Amino acid sequence: MSTSYEVLVLGSGPAGYYSALSCARGGLSTAIVENSLWGGTGFATGCLPAKLKLDGIRSHTSLDLISDHIHEVSKKLQRQLKEAGVSVYHSEGIFTDRNSYKINDRILHAKKIIVATGSEPSCLKGSKFSEKIISHKEALTLKKVPDNILIVGGDVEGIEFASLFSQMGTKVTVVELLSQILPGYDRDLVGPVIRELQNRNVDILCSTEVQSLRDLASEITVVTNKGDISCDLVLVTGLRKNSLPRGLKELGVKIENDSIIVDDNFETSLQGIFAVGDINGILGMAGAAVQQAIQLGDYLLSGEQINLDYSILPRAVFSIPQISGGGLQEKDISSKYKVKKFQLNESWRAMYKQSHAGFVKIIVDADEVIRGIWFVGENAEVHGSSAALILKNKTTINDLRRDLYIHPTDFESVFEAGIL
Ligand SMILES: Cc1cc2nc3c(=O)[nH]c(=O)nc-3n(C[C@H](O)[C@H](O)[C@H](O)COP(=O)(O)OP(=O)(O)OC[C@H]3O[C@@H](n4cnc5c(N)ncnc54)[C@H](O)[C@@H]3O)c2cc1C
Repeated sequence: MSTSYEVLVLGSGPAGYYSALSCARGGLSTAIVENSLWGGTGFATGCLPAKLKLDGIRSHTSLDLISDHIHEVSKKLQRQLKEAGVSVYHSEGIFTDRNSYKINDRILHAKKIIVATGSEPSCLKGSKFSEKIISHKEALTLKKVPDNILIVGGDVEGIEFASLFSQMGTKVTVVELLSQILPGYDRDLVGPVIRELQNRNVDILCSTEVQSLRDLASEITVVTNKGDISCDLVLVTGLRKNSLPRGLKELGVKIENDSIIVDDNFETSLQGIFAVGDINGILGMAGAAVQQAIQLGDYLLSGEQINLDYSILPRAVFSIPQISGGGLQEKDISSKYKVKKFQLNESWRAMYKQSHAGFVKIIVDADEVIRGIWFVGENAEVHGSSAALILKNKTTINDLRRDLYIHPTDFESVFEAGIL
């Protein structure tokens, strides 16, 4: 049996879901194939459930929400895809030629195929995932709160899990190869997160290399360049391997370092096959995957050129406290730039709201154009996307001074920083 579509999408994470939805809503006959859990790392097994757990911890509600969550995600995704007219298949498959993908005894033909198959956790070289060496997937579905855990990687993923487990009463050790946790973030942004983790007795070992893991019957020995550490559970973060659909390599698609190479319009070296999200190796973030998918949809529907500036992509660390923002940081700038910093506890909002630790900082260029905005504090996540709009619009300090804001809110601190 064979069925023809204008567009076939592989994978239902953020990249695949929004690709299929945009194409179908734009009037193209569209099908989607998922071979595992609907929603992928973005919605079902990684990013979103990690935030759900952190929210649960903050509001002291039940932590055992993830299987319900995966079920809800699966239902919601399939419902919305079907409502948009997308044909939905749940199956493993294989490329048979550049316009055909075989699932069971059915061949799906399509003029355009969008590969959005994302990535999977990968273990340390020489080790395998096991009951005691786990990835984020198992960490989010643990039935029992562990007594102690060692987290390999002080990246965003590792620090979000350190915040989560330490809040649950687990003794946490974070081992980071570089000299600072949350590499890529200014030290003053990271400082309040380190202090909070240390208040909760988290050991943070920087400039420390995990050399091997010895999986013994009763415990794990983590061998580092600074000595051995014993623990019950090791969570490996930050290591991913891309999920290439079967048969694609054999068609001759260009791949480098495990990623499918794409041009400016996300087209691979094989005409008519596109790749968006983690699989193209441009940026491993759900926010980027969603926008790549939306803009690819526009390109396929109307030829509109893709226009994405990742330098202003807003980012957040859902630690306690949180960090969010976009654009330049102090580590990136020369003396031609100015840094304006405003403490949140100096805002009008702080006069009657209890917790107000943290600050906002703005990086301004020589023409007074805002080039970076960063927050650290409780609920910083809510400001990151507004920061990106400020950056995208090349807002000046004078624009900021003459704009309208809700009073009294934390966000007014951006205005206060601007008029300093
Ligand atoms: C713990 C954790 C926290 C994160 N937090 C954030 C965050 O706060 N913000 C952020 O922006 N990003 C975050 N990320 C990263 C984000 O989850 C990924 O960048 C994003 O999910 C990538 O989307 P994707 O659609 O490309 O891939 P995925 O979400 O991985 O989805 C790919 C889908 O394709 C399916 N698939 C694979 N092979 C096939 C095949 N052959 N046929 C059919 N289907 C296939 C998979 O089963 C999966 O459903 C986090 C990641 C992790 C692990």
